[in-house]
Amino acid sequence: MLKKRFAQHLLVGSRILQKLTCFAEIKPEEVVVEIGPGTGNLTKYLLKTPLKKLYLIEIDPEMIEHLKKIIKDERVVFIKADATKFDFPSLKESNLKLIGNLPYNVASLIIENTVFYKDFIPYAFYMVQKEVAERLINEKSWLSIFVKTFYEIEYLMSIPARFFIPPPKVVSAFIKLKRKDFKDIFDPKEYKNFLTKIFAQKRKMLKHKLSEFSLKEVGISGEKRVEELELKDFLSLYLSFQKLK
Ligand code: SAH
Repeated sequence: MLKKRFAQHLLVGSRILQKLTCFAEIKPEEVVVEIGPGTGNLTKYLLKTPLKKLYLIEIDPEMIEHLKKIIKDERVVFIKADATKFDFPSLKESNLKLIGNLPYNVASLIIENTVFYKDFIPYAFYMVQKEVAERLINEKSWLSIFVKTFYEIEYLMSIPARFFIPPPKVVSAFIKLKRKDFKDIFDPKEYKNFLTKIFAQKRKMLKHKLSEFSLKEVGISGEKRVEELELKDFLSLYLSFQKLK
């Protein structure tokens, strides 16, 4: 009864589940959120750690019913919700550690939503497609810059398809997002709009997308293209853009 539309690929194998849990270094009294717990394979390992509370966010009502039957632990809170839109501040917790074997069809949206709520989320550990992990780390896209502005991304390990039931068509990767100590005040929604705007039509020179004032102020040639910019350039351009508003 696994559902394709929810990208349900369950992780199996105690050693791998143990290893993923270890990476998260869950300390006593930490509040953890698992995204897409499914049948609870990873959940059982998370509950062996000294965490204070574990929120389970799962979209599939049948999975939630199943989880409620098999998990009897007072630290667990079951939430039937869509993690791509979940409002983390509604949990009324300030420091959340997120972990999940993500549904790959919406993994980027879940990562984006994590960044929107960065103020509440110092750490996230996500299983994603290896290719998605590599693109986030090595390529320049609005999403990779959006994530890297606020988080350091670490590639923890690759996981072959045979560790999943049913096996996905792709190799997977477990990544860690660690929030940076970042002081500038950014409205993530507005910053996202700014980034998507300058990443649209990648081949176009910056002078056609940004004001001459901003480019001069930041000292970047308008003849450059978006892919030639460094992370720090995006930050300075955005700050200058904000001033102009
Ligand atoms: N963590 C489990 C299952 C991973 S499969 C394991 O490792 O075995 C991905 C899970 O995410 C499925 O349970 C699926 O129902 C759930 N899911 C899919 N889309 C979701 C969404 N938008 N929000 C929350 N959960 C979702």
